[in-house]
Amino acid sequence: MNAPVLSMKSLRKEFGRMVAVDDLSIDVPKGELVCLLGPSGCGKTTTLRMVAGFVEPTAGQIRIQGQEVTRLPPYKRDTGMVFQSYALFPHLSVAENVEFGLKNLKVPAAARKSRVQEMLQMVELGALGGRLPRQLSGGQQQRVALARALAIRPAVLLLDEPFSNLDAQLRVRMREELRGLIGKLDTTTLFVTHDQEEALVLADRIVVMNEGRVDQVGPPREIYDRPQTRFVAQFIGLCNFIPATVTEVMGDALVLEADQGVRLRAARGANAPTVGGKVMLAVRPENVRIGGAGPGDNRVPGRVRTVTYLGKASHVRVEAAGADLLIEDHGARSGTLEPGATVELAIDPERVLVLPGT
Ligand code: ATP
Repeated sequence: MNAPVLSMKSLRKEFGRMVAVDDLSIDVPKGELVCLLGPSGCGKTTTLRMVAGFVEPTAGQIRIQGQEVTRLPPYKRDTGMVFQSYALFPHLSVAENVEFGLKNLKVPAAARKSRVQEMLQMVELGALGGRLPRQLSGGQQQRVALARALAIRPAVLLLDEPFSNLDAQLRVRMREELRGLIGKLDTTTLFVTHDQEEALVLADRIVVMNEGRVDQVGPPREIYDRPQTRFVAQFIGLCNFIPATVTEVMGDALVLEADQGVRLRAARGANAPTVGGKVMLAVRPENVRIGGAGPGDNRVPGRVRTVTYLGKASHVRVEAAGADLLIEDHGARSGTLEPGATVELAIDPERVLVLPGT
C-alpha cells in the first residue's frame, strides 16, 4: 500500500456516556475511495466529522498527508466537504460558491476564474455560473457542492450521504459521474452512506460499521462474497442463516450438522472453528439451487412454503435444515412449484460461509 493520504488511528468519540465511535483505524492511500457503510446511528457521520474537524475526537489521531491534524480547526485541514443538504451559500452565484474556497486560500483572481470555469465544466454546469442556487434543480445543486469542494484540490474529499436528497434515477447517474470525476482527479475520498448498493458501486474499499465499531474492511466483492460476521452478511444483500455444529475438520473443509441431522460441507474460511464448535452458516439466496445437485454439492431436503414471482426471478421460501431458507430461482422450475412440495436443494460447499457464534 502507498503511504496513506488519510490515516485514522484508534479514533474514539464519546458523547456523554454514549460511545459513538470506538477504536476505529483506517489508512486510505492516494486516490482511493473508501465508503463508511452502516445503519443509522453506527457512527459514520461522526467519523467523517472528526476527519473534517467539526467534531473533536475523545481519543486517537488523524493524519492527512503525514501531518497530524487531530486538533486543528477545519479550515487548517486540507479537506473538501460535501454535505447531505449541499449547504450552498444562497446569496452567492454558482460561480461565487465554487470560487469561495479559492478566495480563502488567497489564490490570485485570474487563477481563481480559470479554476472555477474548469470545475463548472467538469460538472457540466459551464453555462450556469451566474445563477443562484435556488434557480437550480437538486441534482445541479449537488454538482455545485461537488465542484466547490473539489475546486481547492483538497488532499481528502469528504462526502456525507451526498445523494440522499436526489430521486432514484438521478442518484444512479450522479454515482457514475462522481466515480468518473474522482478517478480523473485522483482524489482520496471518504464517503458516508447507509445505502449498500451505493457503497458496492462506488467504493474501492468498504468499511462496514456496527454500533461505533468496524466489523469488516474490504473491497466490495470481498464484503459481499466473504462477510466475516453475521451483521455484515445481513446488512449487505440478503442472506440465509443455518445454525450448525462442527463434526469434522478436514484440512480446509468442514463437515457440519444442522437441525434434523442434516449434514453439510463448507469451506473452512477465515473463522477457524474446531470440532464441537457451534457456528452460524450463511448462504446467499442466489447460491441455493432447487434440484440439479452436482457431484460435490450439498444436498438438503426441504419443503416449499411460498413462491413469489418477481419477473426476472422468483423467490422461493423453503423449510430446510431447521431454517426458513430464501432461494432466488432463475429457472423455469419455480413456476411449477406449489407450497407443500418436497424438493432437494443443492448448495456448493464453497458458497457456505462459516460465521462465528449462534
Ligand atoms: P445516520 O446515518 O443516521 O446519520 P450515523 O451512522 O452517521 O447515522 P452518527 O451521526 O455518527 O451516526 O451518530 C452516532 C451516534 O452518536 C448516534 O447514536 C447519535 O445519536 C450520537 N450522536 C451524534 N452526534 C451527537 C451529539 N452531538 N451529541 C450526542 N450524541 C450524538
